[in-house]
Amino acid sequence: MNLDNLKTTDGIDVAGKRVLYRADLNVPAKDGVITDATRLERVAPGLQALAARGAKVIVISHFGRPKSGPDKENSLGLVAAALGGLLQRHVSLAGDCIGLHAHAIVDALKPGDVCVLENTRFHKGEETNDPAFAEALAELGDIFVNDAFSAAHRAHASTEGLTHHLPSYAGPLMMEEINALKAALEVPKRPTVAVVGGAKVSTKIPILTNLVGKVDKLIIGGGMANTFLQAQGIDVGRSLAEPEFHDMARDIMTMAKAHGCDVILPSDAVIAREFKPGAACEVVGVENVPTDAMILDIGPASIASMGAHLRQCRTLLWNGPMGAFEISPFGEGTFTLARDAANQTREGTLLSIAGGGDTVAALNAAGVAGEFTYVSTAGGAFLEWLEGKDLPGISALTR
Ligand code: AMP
Repeated sequence: MNLDNLKTTDGIDVAGKRVLYRADLNVPAKDGVITDATRLERVAPGLQALAARGAKVIVISHFGRPKSGPDKENSLGLVAAALGGLLQRHVSLAGDCIGLHAHAIVDALKPGDVCVLENTRFHKGEETNDPAFAEALAELGDIFVNDAFSAAHRAHASTEGLTHHLPSYAGPLMMEEINALKAALEVPKRPTVAVVGGAKVSTKIPILTNLVGKVDKLIIGGGMANTFLQAQGIDVGRSLAEPEFHDMARDIMTMAKAHGCDVILPSDAVIAREFKPGAACEVVGVENVPTDAMILDIGPASIASMGAHLRQCRTLLWNGPMGAFEISPFGEGTFTLARDAANQTREGTLLSIAGGGDTVAALNAAGVAGEFTYVSTAGGAFLEWLEGKDLPGISALTR
């Protein structure tokens, strides 16, 4: 993806203009209560800054997965109220994101005001990227700012469609994420290392295939390492593994070799016979896993060796845990490596970027999420970037 033509909101004149601002307001909520407001907290400064520059800010977003048309459960009402609290100003909510009601709310805005339009997914045209729906949305703005990196892997009307109708810009959060990923993958300080773990190799093939051509070292851990070990003829007992992906694992090793990428697999493992908290466990070399046991974490020799490789590197990209970190004591591999990376980041010798659902949870459990250079909460969009794919919501901003 060529990002040279990406336009940002820096320096553009927004005073008195209607800024259609695509945020990701899709926060987790249960029984009418927002359970994690991180996304709102992150979006608030960008909104505040546009309002302070005299823009009329019109926030649009999806929320949840409404099945057919509007429903109370997926209304952005709750979120608009919370956003008002964070911004310490009144944030009005339009009961629909297009049509008369939306126009009435937008027409009443004064420079510096903020409103939220109801869930874009209440209209089928959002996910089908219907040009007529995008046009109806576009009528409400003079310019379009997309600040939802986490929705950029989807070509929807509120991400891609709008760029066909309005002058379009990348917002500050979007730029933060893009710059972090560029620093890790496009113009990194070398040597670079990717730590890839998680349950299954089958879900990470595109990531591994892309990364072996880009990074100097690839550390593989978690359940997916078992398939690589098995593909080398090692018996991993009852461990999670995908024998049908042996050929793929061998292909990835061959590709890595061709690109000069050093692949580091676990040499020892923490094994147990039960997958439950406090299960009796022991450390064995990966060649000595008993047939009735499961590998549930990398062992101390692997941690030491992987840590040493990490210390040789200047840039780290991390996705996926090294073991079943949610279940004690199988989090040690993930936590120790995460702490190593956090220490190096603090010392200024490592740029550390991490992302993908369970990775954020694992870094939080290790208590170091705040110490990485950048932790992406974008999920699918982060993973697709790692896969080397074009994200339609971003490439549309470069047209
Ligand atoms: P993913 O969503 O693919 O990143 O996988 C994350 C999940 O992989 C976590 O829930 C971990 O508990 C699980 N996991 C990591 N290592 C292992 C392992 N050796 N055996 C079983 N599950 C694992």
